[in-house]
Amino acid sequence: MEPIKNIKGTQDLLPQQAWKWHYIESVIRKMSETAGYREIRTPIFESTQLFKRGIGELTDVVSKEMYTFTDRGNTSLTLRPEMTASVMRSWIQNSLGQEGGVQKLYYAGPMFRAENVQKGRLRQFHQWGIELVGSPAAAADAEVILLMIRTLESFGLTNLKLKLNSVGDENCRPVYREILKDYFRPRLAELCPVCQGRFDSNPMRILDCKNETCKSVSAEAPKITDHLNEACQTHFDLVKTFLTKANIPFEIDPFLVRGLDYYTKTAFEVISTDLGSQNAVGGGGRYDLLIEQLGGKPTPSVGFAIGIERLLILLEERNLFKDLSPKGPDLFVATFSESHQTAIFPVVQNLRLAGIRTEMELIGRSIKAQMREADRLKAAYVLVVGDQELETQTVTLKKMADGSQTPVNLSELTDFFKRLA
Ligand code: AMP
Repeated sequence: MEPIKNIKGTQDLLPQQAWKWHYIESVIRKMSETAGYREIRTPIFESTQLFKRGIGELTDVVSKEMYTFTDRGNTSLTLRPEMTASVMRSWIQNSLGQEGGVQKLYYAGPMFRAENVQKGRLRQFHQWGIELVGSPAAAADAEVILLMIRTLESFGLTNLKLKLNSVGDENCRPVYREILKDYFRPRLAELCPVCQGRFDSNPMRILDCKNETCKSVSAEAPKITDHLNEACQTHFDLVKTFLTKANIPFEIDPFLVRGLDYYTKTAFEVISTDLGSQNAVGGGGRYDLLIEQLGGKPTPSVGFAIGIERLLILLEERNLFKDLSPKGPDLFVATFSESHQTAIFPVVQNLRLAGIRTEMELIGRSIKAQMREADRLKAAYVLVVGDQELETQTVTLKKMADGSQTPVNLSELTDFFKRLA
């Protein structure tokens, strides 16, 4: 029978890789919690309407990339393509704002987008994200950006570039969009079909099209940073001041337009020169209007999301996992026969209860094969149980690193390993 395969753009996380994820997740959690963020988990699927309203119907994510299906009750559901909309839905629904002050939330989990699959671009991928809800201050933007950069650096990454822009607000952006349309209108025919389609609905997206002709047409386009109103300009200047004071280098990219419609004022992205065409490690920005758009009270907020698979690619390419691979078991217990296994079984269980990582032969192989297995597992010690060991209640522990042997009474085995720790 033909074996069934996984779906294109999804990945199995195999045991050889899982520890790398545990490591990344542990750093992420530590960095988030140290900065005062608390975890939030929301459902993997939500009503389709949430993403349409939150992210924007005209974005690529909503118009082309969502996994949307109708359930048995005829409700349109969507696998979440990102989590900010879900977190804000939950924030409103659970009145998290009632506590007052700012709410600092983080999440990590799978997202789903029906994209063209390539290296660093999957259909099920994982994001770590944070949301700082309830502050209009530039200090909040700076704090969020800093957490992202410092976390990436804490993995040992260099070659990172922070790109910064302001995408304006509900007052200055519509004015800029018209200026931009006036610029593109006479050269519309030169743009790629996708950008021609964006002209009316979302002309700012033309600015970050990867098509070479579109890029050259955009090269002289008016910049939003020259058309910000006073509030946006002051905010932008202050964010830059905070970053400069924190010694965070950044590059202003007036054409940085992120793919989700909800951003206002600050938008940013961290790219790595070590990644190929999918070079964005993460990005984010301010979204002062999103909560209101989802039916809550106006609440200024800012956040980011990082792609965990892309982070993993970077760490692997830079060889930054090398000293972190997990150790083998503390002990491998080899046995001659089933009766020896039965006799030693409680000892093995007690060792494990005491936190000593103990493996035991489960197939009934020869002693030689069991030794090979202990070697493969990278066990630190091996002991062999036979009639004599059971009679004297004493085993000989062999240290695999140097072959040295130590006799130990079975009743003192736990203490022996505890002393080593
Ligand atoms: P976004 O939610 O589009 O702002 O993306 C934030 C980050 O998530 C990106 O910078 C990527 O690192 C990651 N990401 C987005 N889409 C994908 C994808 N299809 N596959 C892998 N990572 C992705």
